[in-house]
Amino acid sequence: MSAEREYDVIVLGLGAMGSAAAAHLARRGLRTLGLEQYGPAHDKGSSHGESRMIRKAYFEHPAYVPLLERSYALWRELEAESGTDLLTVTGGLLIGSPESATVAGGRASAERWGLAHRILERSELIAEFPTFDPPEGAVGLWEPDAGFVRPEAAVSAHLRVAEAHGADLRFNEVVTDWSAGERGVPVEVVSAGGRFRAGRLVVCAGPWAPQVLAGLPVRLWVERQVLYWFEPSGPIDPFLLGRQPVWIWETEDPEVQLYGFPALGRTGGVKVAFFHGGEPSTPEGISRTVSEAEAARMAEGVRRVLPGLGGGRLLRATTCMYTNSPDRHFVIGELPGVPEVAVACGFSGHGFKFAPVVGELLADLATGVTPRDLPVELFSPSRG
Ligand SMILES: Cc1cc2nc3c(=O)[nH]c(=O)nc-3n(C[C@H](O)[C@H](O)[C@H](O)COP(=O)(O)OP(=O)(O)OC[C@H]3O[C@@H](n4cnc5c(N)ncnc54)[C@H](O)[C@@H]3O)c2cc1C
Repeated sequence: MSAEREYDVIVLGLGAMGSAAAAHLARRGLRTLGLEQYGPAHDKGSSHGESRMIRKAYFEHPAYVPLLERSYALWRELEAESGTDLLTVTGGLLIGSPESATVAGGRASAERWGLAHRILERSELIAEFPTFDPPEGAVGLWEPDAGFVRPEAAVSAHLRVAEAHGADLRFNEVVTDWSAGERGVPVEVVSAGGRFRAGRLVVCAGPWAPQVLAGLPVRLWVERQVLYWFEPSGPIDPFLLGRQPVWIWETEDPEVQLYGFPALGRTGGVKVAFFHGGEPSTPEGISRTVSEAEAARMAEGVRRVLPGLGGGRLLRATTCMYTNSPDRHFVIGELPGVPEVAVACGFSGHGFKFAPVVGELLADLATGVTPRDLPVELFSPSRG
């Protein structure tokens, strides 16, 4: 097989991060090839299911905040360029005890970066947001800038921008092999459709990263997660977009967080999910069936914070995958020992909101620009 065409950069995987990388690379005038094993904005990876939370008072680590500020700006740019509504600000609540990692961590980030926020005592929280009734001892951190992004529309918008700037995007084309620095060729990629050469490779394989990047020092593992849409037991109105904010509640068990969104219409239900606590899985082995027992466990959890929702009927549920790093921080940078390859993976269930800024960081890495705001150590692909 001979090389079909030469490119400046090949992007492996066109989900949240790969579509953003392709858009940023093509916008910079680079000859960009994107290869994706499924169709555009598909539901078999990590980037589907109606909504993804975005927030700035980041309990995970204050180093994410500059990236978030940039991400908000880039989502608005993408909306303008693609003519699509992507980001909706609803305000958000972090709920838990004042010492919980969620509330204390969110507060630390908000104070460190001077972000708009308010701490609400439990009684104030219930008075302002009557759908909520968290257990005694809980407080709320209110963040006016929090909201959600529409994932399918966002991936599609990045793909359209990439194509409009000349990227060659190929779908239903699985990459079966890649090499870098062999036989004097910077990068060679073999897919079901051919063999391609390029100066650089950007790998955004999501939950397939453990297979595609076998030599990565960070040990990634894939976690099965379920998204649930419940119908409230009473009227939908107090749960509708415009009245209900996005929220995260840390239960008394610090390993268990529950979160949810407003209803996006009168009939589709109100989306809720657990943050972590799912079982280990693989893209090939994941069970897509949601059992009655797990739905009942979710209803029970929701009842403890939103009593009018947990008692309602389950309308639908769908599965999705997290790709976790051991410390739950992202993995972004050069593949150790392989300067031609940049990787972005290990988003540990909280990556979507960053997609456009990750695309920009990857375009920097692939063009030899020192990326702005990248916490190099925190995200290092060579950490153990
Ligand atoms: C249930 C759930 C809820 C979430 N909630 C939030 C949230 O509220 N806020 C938030 O910020 N984040 C959230 N996340 C996390 C966020 O969605 C992910 O971090 C993000 O979508 C990961 O994007 P990705 O591009 O790495 O992976 P994906 O979007 O899965 O993209 C990887 C792509 O690579 C392709 N690929 C892989 N291998 C190959 C190959 N060999 N050849 C060709 N193509 C290949 C795949 O088909 C796929 O399209 C959530 C995730 C889940 C599952």
